[in-house]
Amino acid sequence: MSASIENRYNLFIGGAEVPAAGGGTRTLLNPATNAPLTTVAFGTADDARHAMETAERAFRESGWAGDDGAKRGRTLYRLARLIEERAESLAVLETLNMGKTLKEARGDVAYVGRTFEYVAGLADKIEGETIPVPGPRFDFTLREPLGVTVHIAPWNYPLLLAMRSVAPALAAGNAAVLKPASYTPLTALALARLAKESGVPDGILNVVVGGGAEVGEALVRDPRCRSVAFTGSGEVGQRIAELAGRRIVPATLELGGKSPVIVFPEADLDRAAKGIAFGIFGNAGQMCWAGSRLLVHTAVREPLLERLGAAAARLRVGPGTAPGVEMGPLVSPEQKERVLGFLAEAMDGGARAVAGGTPYADGPLARGNFVPPTVLDRLDDGARVLREEVFGPVLSVLPFDGLDDALRLANATEFGLLGSVWTRDLAVAHQVARRLECGMVMINDPPASFPQSPFAGVKESGIGSEQGRASVEFYTRRKNVVVNIGLPRTKG
Ligand code: NAD
Repeated sequence: MSASIENRYNLFIGGAEVPAAGGGTRTLLNPATNAPLTTVAFGTADDARHAMETAERAFRESGWAGDDGAKRGRTLYRLARLIEERAESLAVLETLNMGKTLKEARGDVAYVGRTFEYVAGLADKIEGETIPVPGPRFDFTLREPLGVTVHIAPWNYPLLLAMRSVAPALAAGNAAVLKPASYTPLTALALARLAKESGVPDGILNVVVGGGAEVGEALVRDPRCRSVAFTGSGEVGQRIAELAGRRIVPATLELGGKSPVIVFPEADLDRAAKGIAFGIFGNAGQMCWAGSRLLVHTAVREPLLERLGAAAARLRVGPGTAPGVEMGPLVSPEQKERVLGFLAEAMDGGARAVAGGTPYADGPLARGNFVPPTVLDRLDDGARVLREEVFGPVLSVLPFDGLDDALRLANATEFGLLGSVWTRDLAVAHQVARRLECGMVMINDPPASFPQSPFAGVKESGIGSEQGRASVEFYTRRKNVVVNIGLPRTKG
């Protein structure tokens, strides 16, 4: 397993692995132990400029943006196959770097392969329209790639979320510059190598590792930047929107969440408990769409909490690479401290911990960034843990009495990413799906998404959507052409 980690990783610009211009490096830590893992080149605004310049040259000169979408599609198919072939080493790299379990990392890598496969099939289906207009004229539209596209990714699904926007941008013929999160750049760098191997021209996919405020902002401010795909926190999302607004470039923002999970008395409680546990303890709760607020009908509160407490207690917590482990550590000591801060505050405020609630006191779990799977009941209405995104394995419980009450609580948040409902009553399920203020709804299932379905948040969870057919369209612009073909005017 250790063979798949190298001692040093460089930036990937113009098809070459290059050190940061200023010679900067960062040591990455293994989140399960906090022992040094490897060293990575850490770029500055100079590297960002270099990558943007290189990408623009490749966009103009490499032929990638040309009219042969099928050729681009075949290249991206090859990339999808290579991702499948190297899936295990990519998954191990992701686990070592980010902490998630190997099973989760394997799922992420398979998703990335599927994403490339999906967009590969769309690369030759980027079509314009003909539009009837009066007079001796013919009106048609062309769909053209945007140019250089910028992608800024978070650390919770390092490869998956980076490629969710890079893949359609490439399929549409753009040249991409990606800034992965500083903690978790390794799989993006590994994938850039695979892209080269599959025939993506040099300069069409570039990866610059570096600080968000310096490298991220330099990419968005660069005059060559034609669009921004940002996934991350609301605070940084606002900053990106501001910068993109100043440059008049489109931005998709995929931001945080505080997703409600509503359980009605007719629900299958065994299935619901399993699904709810998966939706909050998966990826150690570091999910934008984590079902972090459990709204449970008072009639089933106790039996559901009993099941959830048991599920949390059964969960095997440990290093993501260890066999049988079901929940790994958080990404960094800072995140662990942040999440423990929420727990301490809630417990001080009188919350009842149905499971977890206090940090691991000693042993390997205390040394790594582990937080126990936690279920908090009897919270104060105003508790911070009920309002803010925790980004850890912490479920907060609120009881309700009727459908209107449940929807009022569910929608009482500035976030609007995902909402879930568990019930066997179809009419209730459909009513809730319509009345939830969010971009995605799950009925009787834990959070799930597919490369072919849109992924989007509303309210403060974001703007625009990713995945699906529209994702490739987003990376094109429509040009309208009117031609006077000189035919005599038809009367009628
Ligand atoms: P973050 O906002 O701190 O960082 C995200 C990325 O932005 C990183 O690459 C970071 O280096 C970069 N960045 C930081 N400051 C920047 C700046 N001023 N200009 C440009 N780039 C900058 O987020 P994070 O902590 O990495 O990720 C966790 C957050 O991401 C959570 O809020 C989570 O909900 C959100 N998220 C959303 C989705 C979604 O699809 N809606 C998916 C995953 C994560």
